[in-house]
Amino acid sequence: MRKNIVAANWKMNKNHPEAIELIQSILFSQIPKKTSTFHQVIIATPYLYLREAVLLSQDFPHLYIAAQNCHHQSMGAYTGEIAAQQLESIGVTHVIIGHSERRAYFNEIDEVLLQKIKQALQHHLIPLFCCGEPLEIREANTHLEYIQTQLANTVFQLNPKDFSNIIIAYEPIWAIGTGQTATVAQAQEVHAFIRKLITDKFGTDIAENTSILYGGSCNAQNASSLFAQKDIDGGLIGGASLIAKDFETIVLSNTTQ
Ligand code: PEP
Repeated sequence: MRKNIVAANWKMNKNHPEAIELIQSILFSQIPKKTSTFHQVIIATPYLYLREAVLLSQDFPHLYIAAQNCHHQSMGAYTGEIAAQQLESIGVTHVIIGHSERRAYFNEIDEVLLQKIKQALQHHLIPLFCCGEPLEIREANTHLEYIQTQLANTVFQLNPKDFSNIIIAYEPIWAIGTGQTATVAQAQEVHAFIRKLITDKFGTDIAENTSILYGGSCNAQNASSLFAQKDIDGGLIGGASLIAKDFETIVLSNTTQ
């Protein structure tokens, strides 16, 4: 059975005291009490706070710490970069790969993203792989083909066993950080489409066990209606994950689905 997952993407926000305060607010909220083996809560902090977040959360069984990126090579002369194996060595369990901001600002193309995914899997990190279309593609009504190509070039290159370890996040770029959430129908349409593509490629069992998260201005007000959709298994949350109370509301709305 697939898991309900809510993941926080803090991006490049919070200084050190603020980051620790936010982690502690999450740990002392209702989240640990209300989550079970059917749930995962993933917090993607800046690299700087990962080790401390891992240590603080180690007694909380459904809470996982993620990096927001990793390098596509295993180690070496890549000044300023962080490798998957380094993340594994400090207890990080997940890594976001292919976020639209990384694609847009750091020129991360599908070929490089596939290498990152392979690095992550080789070092026992679960990739949280993002896909999603820009506004002009949505307006041209070619978003399904666009997403199909993103998946075909990346996670669909994996063997079934490796693919079974992937979490997918559908994040329409026009909805990220804009306050313009996809409608429930728009999101469900794409999630069902992605699940159908997974079924065609890897079979029903794998498709039914793959968690597909929605991301893009998901907040404490709209989360429960999104998460109630058949193919939406939770969310990847940016802005609203920086406010402890809002993040708690979002996570708790996913535990009642
Ligand atoms: C994101 O960046 O992954 C995201 C979903 O951001 P926001 O929730 O702020 O739109």
